[in-house]
Amino acid sequence: MCPHPSPPGTPPLLEVYKLAKRFDQGAAAVADFSMTISAGESVGLVGESGSGKSTTSRMICRLIDPSEGEISFEGQSIGHIPARDFHRSPFRKAIQIVFQDPNDSLNPRFTAFDCIAHPLLRLSGMRPGDALRQRVEECAERVGLAIELLTRFPHQLSGGQKARVGIARAIACRPRLLVLDEPTAALDVSVQAVVLQLLDRLRREDDLAFLFVSHDLNVVRMMCDRTIVLQHGRIVEQGESRAMFDNPQTAYTRALVEAVPHIETGFVAIATGPETAAGVSHTSQSAWNSTFPTTP
Ligand code: ADP
Ligand code: MG
Repeated sequence: MCPHPSPPGTPPLLEVYKLAKRFDQGAAAVADFSMTISAGESVGLVGESGSGKSTTSRMICRLIDPSEGEISFEGQSIGHIPARDFHRSPFRKAIQIVFQDPNDSLNPRFTAFDCIAHPLLRLSGMRPGDALRQRVEECAERVGLAIELLTRFPHQLSGGQKARVGIARAIACRPRLLVLDEPTAALDVSVQAVVLQLLDRLRREDDLAFLFVSHDLNVVRMMCDRTIVLQHGRIVEQGESRAMFDNPQTAYTRALVEAVPHIETGFVAIATGPETAAGVSHTSQSAWNSTFPTTP
């Protein structure tokens, strides 16, 4: 059962209906994709490489145009707004994105301060000044980024610090939905744990909804109430994350579950310790699972 049902009579936060994408008239990268996300709900999207996860998430956050289908946000259709015009839509600030690799997504000529200020200037109508500075510092603080680091450029920051800048930027405009495409895949395991815990905390504090894309079933199991499994651009299975991974109903999901390597330990220590924490060794899945319960 959905732990975050929309109140009766209100539309879900996000509703996607029969979404499809064909690139260059080729085979469909995504087809017949329908889903909903309620306010505060975390939904995972998993599947092997090339299964259409990024294409789906990019359509939903309106970076690319769907070939077919509908996307509604808080009951209003946004799928028809051309991707190139979406930055002018009032929904742009409500749907924010955290990318996989902060090296690609942070402007190398922007300081950390500028990166976080950028959406506030562009989307929230703020002007340079004390209020902007205060808001940027507040965001940095919320993601655990020291204020002294705000004057640094991306190349002067560690992987974990860059990830925090990317997250601070994404939450700056107080979005309702975060689309996260493999947000920790580029990070060391020790840093991954810290960043996942940070994301989980921000979601609970802000009643944020997540569309959480990952090829890592353990991450999705920890982070997501529900999970959708994609194969060749189509949904093959979906359900409550733990129940589905404990008892997959399709051969494809079963194969994904069986392909999961042994789980890294040290998660508790690492998740609460400094980012530089090391010493990761192998242990059982239960150690990981008990560390990071998915239920609120
Ligand atoms: P995933 O994120 O699950 O790895 P993608 O959504 O990136 O999968 O890719 C799904 C399919 O769409 C792949 O076959 C990929 O080659 C194709 N694809 C993705 N982006 C483009 C593009 N811009 N042009 C052409 N084909 C693309
Ligand atoms: Mg991808």
